[in-house]
Amino acid sequence: MTNEELWKAALGQIELSISKANFITWFKNTSIQSHENGRIVIGVPNGFAKEWLENKYNLYIIKALKSLAPDVQDIKCSILPNNGQKGAPETFKKSMDGARPFSGTQNDSTIPTGFSRKRIIEKPVLTAPSGEIFQSNLNTRYTFNNFIVAENNELARAACFAISQNLGHLYNPLFIYGGVGLGKTHLLQALGNEIAEKQPEKRVKYITSERFTSELVESIKSQTVDQFKAEYEHIDLLIIDDVQFLSGREKTQNEFFHIFNALYQLNKQIVISSDRTPKAIPTLEERLRSRFEGGMIADISRPSLETRTAILETKAKEKGVVIDSASIHFIAEHIKENVRELEGALARVCAYSEFQKVPIGLSLVQKALSDMLIQTKKSVKLDDIVKIVSEFYGVSTEEMVKKGRKKEIAHPRQVAMYLLRTELDTPFSTIGDFFGGRDHTTVLHAVEKITKNRESTLRIREEIASLKEKLQSTPV
Ligand code: ADP
Ligand code: MG
Repeated sequence: MTNEELWKAALGQIELSISKANFITWFKNTSIQSHENGRIVIGVPNGFAKEWLENKYNLYIIKALKSLAPDVQDIKCSILPNNGQKGAPETFKKSMDGARPFSGTQNDSTIPTGFSRKRIIEKPVLTAPSGEIFQSNLNTRYTFNNFIVAENNELARAACFAISQNLGHLYNPLFIYGGVGLGKTHLLQALGNEIAEKQPEKRVKYITSERFTSELVESIKSQTVDQFKAEYEHIDLLIIDDVQFLSGREKTQNEFFHIFNALYQLNKQIVISSDRTPKAIPTLEERLRSRFEGGMIADISRPSLETRTAILETKAKEKGVVIDSASIHFIAEHIKENVRELEGALARVCAYSEFQKVPIGLSLVQKALSDMLIQTKKSVKLDDIVKIVSEFYGVSTEEMVKKGRKKEIAHPRQVAMYLLRTELDTPFSTIGDFFGGRDHTTVLHAVEKITKNRESTLRIREEIASLKEKLQSTPV
């Protein structure tokens, strides 16, 4: 077996034992450089990959290699210049801390080694900004320091941190995906804040894709698109949160693509988050998808019980709250979905204890969380909500799903959208798709409208309360 064959077979095994995101991220452009006296030297594209392969994946690698070549005892990684290919011409070799290019054209040698991409040939579309008001949209509450690292998020965290140390040169773009409330925004903001603090001369912009869309639409209306685009030219780190909302918005995707390319060619860092992988975002233009997939993809998954416990302990300490381990354990056991819910539960317990003037203990925690627990136990589904709403208002599901603006139908539809969002945290685009392929902004407006009306109108408040009660009493 040649080294190449051996590595290919080993990769086949490794791929089965780790997540896809990890596999692509760490094993892309690796190769066996030598195999002597039981030691295998693996060529990797950069120091970051070396560290992960040697420390985190070394057992997987050795196991896979051993099963194919029993003499293998250990592995070592060596950083290869230029895309992990052996014997690359000298002129293409360059270390990662090389100088930034000053022109708008991307020199191949500045592409992070190992993550080969098709060369981008479009010219940057951005021109100089005029009279811009620059907003970074950073919230200093989110830092790397107060981000708890655990097995479910360490890859994403490591990637963000590495980028903060080497902007634009390591992984571009970085694409982070994971479900709601798992810390995507926290990480992205932490990265932005780290740069803002350590390298204040760099321009950082954080923006959600929804806000990006609405600002773009505004600029189209006021005929200032060029200025809108120009404002992005001077950004060193562009962070786009919840990019799944670009789904179905062709014009926005097109403009975003141009901004993306312009920044990319200037070696500016782009970091993106989404609630799912690029592949799983419906109606994402192919060229954007392949751009997103061209960099590094890191996932955040749901926290384990131990992680949930650690999160609660840390958050309680941060709040200066004394809470016994039985109580912590009870919350961690019952609140499983995400970190946002854990924070919510803790806040609720604290408020309850303050209100009742009783110190926090197991029985207080159980009482404080009883409502929340019924809900999570029930695991209400999208279909349940739609069915209950349709029965409640006496309209059929078909009518709600169909296009049409009849008022008798519009209100139940909006309420259903509202409940799907608030009870299940369903992404706007999923709700839109369910209701006959409506745009996510339609859903956003519906949710906002009901939220507002709920505050101002007693009737709506009562409707929502009855619907929620029905939801809780649905048989599972
Ligand atoms: P997402 O953007 O993935 O929906 P957020 O970043 O908004 O999630 O996280 C939800 C809440 O949980 C935030 O208050 C955030 O600070 C907190 N959080 C999430 N993950 C962590 C973590 N690993 N350590 C500390 N706080 C976290
Ligand atoms: Mg978020």
